[in-house]
Amino acid sequence: MTAPAAASGYRVHHLNCACIQRLRIHGRQLACHCLLVETPSAGLVLVDTGLGTPDLVDPAERLGLMFTYVYAKPKRDPSLAAVNQIRALGFDPRDVRHIVMTHMDLDHVGGLSDFPHATVHLHKLEFDAAMQRRGFKAKHRYLPKMWAHMPRFATYSEEGEPWMGFEAVRGLAGLPPEILLVPLFGHTLGHCGVAVRDTRGWLLHAGDAYFDPREVNGPQRHCAFQVGLFQAMVQTRRRDRLSNQARLRALTAAHPEIRVFSAHNPFEYLDAIGKPDPAGSLHRGRPDSAWALA
Ligand SMILES: [Zn+2]
Repeated sequence: MTAPAAASGYRVHHLNCACIQRLRIHGRQLACHCLLVETPSAGLVLVDTGLGTPDLVDPAERLGLMFTYVYAKPKRDPSLAAVNQIRALGFDPRDVRHIVMTHMDLDHVGGLSDFPHATVHLHKLEFDAAMQRRGFKAKHRYLPKMWAHMPRFATYSEEGEPWMGFEAVRGLAGLPPEILLVPLFGHTLGHCGVAVRDTRGWLLHAGDAYFDPREVNGPQRHCAFQVGLFQAMVQTRRRDRLSNQARLRALTAAHPEIRVFSAHNPFEYLDAIGKPDPAGSLHRGRPDSAWALA
């Protein structure tokens, strides 16, 4: 592991752990944007996992025929799995001792089984929703096979401290105070963002709280029609989702220095890494057999 930065934040690596070929924004495939945080006291911390090795080797078996062939069509490329990217960075995946989840949708948890010894931190509402799988949407988005290896879960309920205009923000057991769980309910019942202080200041991984950056930047919410339709199809609580987007707009207005990004927008991912996509994925291609969200 490289030495921790001298500043008060940590070194953060932005990883894209899936290419969703079927859905595109302005011609680019959707990403699964995850973070790898180097901490001196808690080892490596992963924020979301994206798809994992078994998903990327045999997506139909793990993710189902609909996700694989109809509405997502993930690229079959095991090098995208977080565990393989972590090795490629020169780290030992066994040093990933903690994983912080925005939520438990299959495209965020697929890599959990690649890190069987890590503690998995998430909001209690999300944990309960994923375990109970009540209703049609829950049965399709939460797949118990993703946690069949019985990871150690650490769950958090409503209590917390205010942070930058958000309520009930929680520090996490065994993790430093530079990593926080920020409730952003709506996409799912217990969906959260994850704030991390890196060497340049705070960043906020907003998970699936929005897909179109214009939803959270500027005084008024703007959203491409298809992006809005897609989010409405997969949301759990619309009112919560929209009120949390309003909070995110207030955050970006009051604190432009905080870097806010979502899990799937390919342009936010490319901005975060600050260079062309190294894997050559998320490419602009002919949009044949893809659904343009924007
Ligand atoms: Zn997602």
